[in-house]
Amino acid sequence: ASSEGRPARADVVIVGTGPAGAAVARILSEQRPDLMIIQFDAGPIVSDPPGAHVKNLSEGDRRTAQRRSEGPAPAASDISTDTLDGYASHDERIVRPGTHLLAEGYRQSGQDGLPALAFSTNVGGMGAHWTCACPRPGESERIAFLDDLDELLDEADRLLGVSAGLMADAPLAHEVRERLSRGLDHRRTRAVAPMPLAVREEPDGTLWWSGSDVVFGEATRKNPRHRLVAETVVTAVRTESGRVLGVRVTDRAAGESYEVDASIVVAAADAFRTPQLLWASGIRPPALGRYLNDQPQVVHAVKLRDVAPQSLGPAGGPIDVLSGVSWVPFTDAEPFHGQVMQLDASPVPYEGEILPGEVVGLGWFCTKDIRAEDRVEFDAAAVDEFGLPAMRVWYELTEQDRDSIERARRAIVDVGDLLGDAVFGEPLEFPPGASLHYQGTTRMGEVDDGTSVCDPDAQVWGITGLYVAGNGVIPTATACNPTLTTVALAVRAARAIAARADKTVLTEQTQDLSHA
Ligand code: FAD
Repeated sequence: ASSEGRPARADVVIVGTGPAGAAVARILSEQRPDLMIIQFDAGPIVSDPPGAHVKNLSEGDRRTAQRRSEGPAPAASDISTDTLDGYASHDERIVRPGTHLLAEGYRQSGQDGLPALAFSTNVGGMGAHWTCACPRPGESERIAFLDDLDELLDEADRLLGVSAGLMADAPLAHEVRERLSRGLDHRRTRAVAPMPLAVREEPDGTLWWSGSDVVFGEATRKNPRHRLVAETVVTAVRTESGRVLGVRVTDRAAGESYEVDASIVVAAADAFRTPQLLWASGIRPPALGRYLNDQPQVVHAVKLRDVAPQSLGPAGGPIDVLSGVSWVPFTDAEPFHGQVMQLDASPVPYEGEILPGEVVGLGWFCTKDIRAEDRVEFDAAAVDEFGLPAMRVWYELTEQDRDSIERARRAIVDVGDLLGDAVFGEPLEFPPGASLHYQGTTRMGEVDDGTSVCDPDAQVWGITGLYVAGNGVIPTATACNPTLTTVALAVRAARAIAARADKTVLTEQTQDLSHA
């Protein structure tokens, strides 16, 4: 961008365009069309509309979009392209297409660390690459001090375009669910159900997977006062006497830095880069970067027993919609989030022919034993590829975590037995970080007692006008996929901003700003 076209001020600056940042833009566009919003992302626009899921692209375009999301050093072009891949990988540093690993600092000596810790750097964030599973948190996963949580989750369903029923009628979905229900429901407080998925069926029968484009919606795209600025890293939030003044950013293409004034900043730059930005800005509440948790994950695959050959697809045919995705919800008594889905046969070391639909993958996520000492620290003396302080991860699985992983292994074998026969023997345990569900680093709290970073509206304690959004805000130990909850919390933050923001920027100054 030429310096002429650069924004100088806004009412609200949003950092990051993943589902969390997109949700804030959407709610503000709907409720406060008078506010001027500038939204930055460190990464490029890789899909159309901006933020769209790469699964909606043709195969060649998809791989290009994935590589462009993988930061300054993208992975080799021949790595596998399905988001369910890696199930059978024994490689310690799993990397999913569209994501890039933290190159160093992911493990301190003698610790478990987070070897699979990854990011997406593109407009849409990980929301352009995710699996779109949107389960609701249950029982102790829920945030007890938020009375409006259910209504917020309903709103998150709307923003993400979640459909409970789509693919529930896939040919084998019924059968898989029946077997699971018969074996599990009698002893559990939450029943087996189709997985709510953020996907819609187009009139021609094709599927459109939700990314940030769906969350932004027309309300944001048509908002003349919303401006999206890609390939621009926010390097500091400027504050004075506990109030936000604006941000400092670097245009990556031009290699130039400039400032934007704003009285409200929403940092939605993921669970590592949001605390990084705050820390780099000298905003360092005691809980910042702490209570870091990732969901330990075990996976298993079974070949369905006794299914009629006519319900299976032909070998080599399309396989992803045959058995849909089934959900075994988290309960306090069985504290695992289970998803059972169609598994692409290719990464599975299985001898013999597999018909489409015949093999299902089971993924069991555990809660982490949450501790203040599991944390990301930042190094004042070293910078990362975006010029921000380098990350150092301190992370250990406790005795309780090991027990929980063991229980999950037993549980997944039992559940697999309800469906069929194990494909690759024992369940596999993924390395820490592989869940891609990093939480806790900017956690929400009811009171400012040093164990949280933000208040129930997601405003950072002690900094007027600074809000945080993203999985880092979730304070509870969850096993379910976090994005729905994260979008719900971002909605709450956006509503609080909508209710308080004064109109500070003159309308005529916004006239020349079009949606980039
Ligand atoms: P992100 O989507 O990570 O977006 C953060 C954005 O901030 C990025 O675009 C980044 O470029 C930008 N950014 C970072 N730093 C800066 C900076 N300093 N300045 C400017 N911009 C910055 N979740 C589920 O709930 N269900 C699933 O089924 C699921 N499956 C997944 C499968 C895969 C393969 C992956 C990769 C993720 C999956 N997830 C899933 C996780 C889900 O994608 C994330 O929970 C979600 O994207 C988080 O949204 P966010 O907006 O907080 O962060």
